Amino acid sequence: MALTGVEIFKLLPKTNCKKCGFPTCLAFAMKLAQRQTSLDLCPDVSEEAKQKLGEASAPPVRPIILGAGDKAVKMGEETVLFRHDKRFVNPSVFALEIKDTSSEADINSKIEEVLNSEIDRVGQKLKIDAIAITNDSNDAGRFEAAAKIVATKASEVPVIICTANSQAAEAAVKLFTDKKPIIYGVNSENTEAMVNIAKTYKATLGVTVSTAFGGSGGGLDELSNLTEKVKSLGIADIVIDSGARNAKEIIEHNTLVRRAAIRKNFKPLGYPVITFAQREDSLVEALITVIGVAKYSSIIVLSSIEKWKNLALFTLRQNLYTDPQVPMQVEQKIYKFGEPTSDSPLLITTNFSLTYFIVSGEVENSKVPSYLAVMDCEGLSVLTAWAAGKFTASKIAQFIKESGIENDIKHREITIPGYVAILSGAIEDKLEGWKVTVGPREANGIPAFLRTRAAK
Ligand code: SF4
Repeated sequence: MALTGVEIFKLLPKTNCKKCGFPTCLAFAMKLAQRQTSLDLCPDVSEEAKQKLGEASAPPVRPIILGAGDKAVKMGEETVLFRHDKRFVNPSVFALEIKDTSSEADINSKIEEVLNSEIDRVGQKLKIDAIAITNDSNDAGRFEAAAKIVATKASEVPVIICTANSQAAEAAVKLFTDKKPIIYGVNSENTEAMVNIAKTYKATLGVTVSTAFGGSGGGLDELSNLTEKVKSLGIADIVIDSGARNAKEIIEHNTLVRRAAIRKNFKPLGYPVITFAQREDSLVEALITVIGVAKYSSIIVLSSIEKWKNLALFTLRQNLYTDPQVPMQVEQKIYKFGEPTSDSPLLITTNFSLTYFIVSGEVENSKVPSYLAVMDCEGLSVLTAWAAGKFTASKIAQFIKESGIENDIKHREITIPGYVAILSGAIEDKLEGWKVTVGPREANGIPAFLRTRAAK
């Protein structure tokens, strides 16, 4: 049962020391009750209070890690029903299905597709995150053989082992020891066997009531009973599948699950949801995936990878899972385009992702090797940053001096965006020996501007 802010307040030290970043213990307690902060931020909370508050302050959707190392992905930890209430936390994981009935060549080519799926968009790496190996053959030996190929060729990629056959599950999961895989396919018949395997191999369990995996088709009630049973047997890391497969069911079930977890703090459904979107028609598969991304699926299993589909789904996922209150930013540094020399031009802009991508795209289009200084303005665009006092002459001068660019170029000329032409004199005052050139107001003028400069 969730505690109210006042109940939480009674358990806090009540010293108002502000170490947690909040002005009072009461303010901290209120945020904790809304699950918008973490108890760890109060260093003085007693052990007894920690224990009592642990449950209340735990995220309503349990955090789960899939995989190990750099490619591990996190799911769950969601605290809101709607993105505008705060933010969605851990992006849906996209997993490509590999059937154990496929030929070795087909398995290899699917693995290659996953390994080559990464793209860079507004400074973030986006990719197909995981592989779901499915036991279509219902043969433990064949499943193990397919899993072996994945374990060898894609050893770093997180894996979901999909089978209701506990023998097959054990044969496959052995190959991913210490890789924190998910064994999906736990139903009311195989619960004890699957729990024992998960304990031995430290795996997460995927609990299902889908009839395709030996489940009863009993919906959310049955699913809640099953997660409680798995938990009582000692496994806390769980992902859930209500058996929803069509669009209507996915929206209904996922919404009910999220509401139960967030609004009622109903623990038996407070787990990440796995959705199976595989369809013969790629467009329909993409649409089902869109529904999953928008409506609370933490893992979505796809049957195929197509570039168009990836681009659309990656973009949607990225947009929904960014914090609406924090502008997207790229790293502050000097970016190189082509192979610039000590005579190449130097331009400057701000680190708002969209600004960076438009400007860098036009610098690339110019085919003139160049340096682009991207300055940290907390993700604001050029004019907004200037108006907010973050893109000023003294800050630009300081950034340029500290960037080390003076070691890379012989000239001392910097091109500033046309919209902040007003800064040119002040920058020349602050950056001794430098000449400031005013560039185009719009980024699409950059190619002609750079080519003209290069022709001089
Ligand atoms: Fe209160 Fe703890 Fe915050 Fe200090 S750090 S104000 S004691 S909640």
